[in-house]
Amino acid sequence: MKLTIGHLYPDLLNLYGDRGNIACLMKRCAWRGIEARTIGYESEDRVDFSTLDIVLLGGGSDREQMLVCEKLKKIRRDFQAYVEGGGVVLAVCGGYQLLGRYYKTKDGLIKGLELVDLYTEQGDGRLIDNIILDSPLCEMPVVGFENHGGRTYIGENRPFGKVLYGSGNDGRSGYEGVIYKNVVGTYLHGPLLPKNPQLADYLIQKALERKYGSVTLSPLDDTQEREANAYMVNRLMK
Ligand code: GLN
Repeated sequence: MKLTIGHLYPDLLNLYGDRGNIACLMKRCAWRGIEARTIGYESEDRVDFSTLDIVLLGGGSDREQMLVCEKLKKIRRDFQAYVEGGGVVLAVCGGYQLLGRYYKTKDGLIKGLELVDLYTEQGDGRLIDNIILDSPLCEMPVVGFENHGGRTYIGENRPFGKVLYGSGNDGRSGYEGVIYKNVVGTYLHGPLLPKNPQLADYLIQKALERKYGSVTLSPLDDTQEREANAYMVNRLMK
């Protein structure tokens, strides 16, 4: 089995080393004998979504998001067809905000891709801390780190998780992120997938199923990841 991962705009959207999530996907595929490759698309490159199985859209500052939103206009239709066709997407922070209709900042409006019916508005102050979620996609709690000025409103869409510790989408709703078809949008930055291998496997599984039909992933030894997860949950939830 083969998977192709598309990394969109690592030149502009790569806060907190979001590309570490790709290293995790590649490794978990390799350990199972799944042939995975990654194509990085810089902002001037043409993106051929028909060759992609997983797309990663990382985080960025407001300034970088403003630059990226101009490029996104060109790929919007193809990206939408990919999403509606069950393509797998992981969109983190600035990338998550860009999935929606817009991100309204104090300096102007950043138009989004309109792939998911959500919107973001800049609030007073930033929501910065570790975060823990209860997500339907993972049996273990999801642990991560958030740092965002935007408050995201997802309407009737499914959240990625319920906040057990931290702020989440808007600091009030008690929910974090969004799940739409095979798209996961989240504010959880940095090594999200290494910290939450079950989410990595969820994305791999969905991508393989779309391509090959029903697939069972062979289990991996995640003892260390489980210990790290339990440590963080104990530390923050005491
Ligand atoms: N610029 C956005 C915000 O502050 C997203 C930041 C990020 O990707 N960390 O809300």
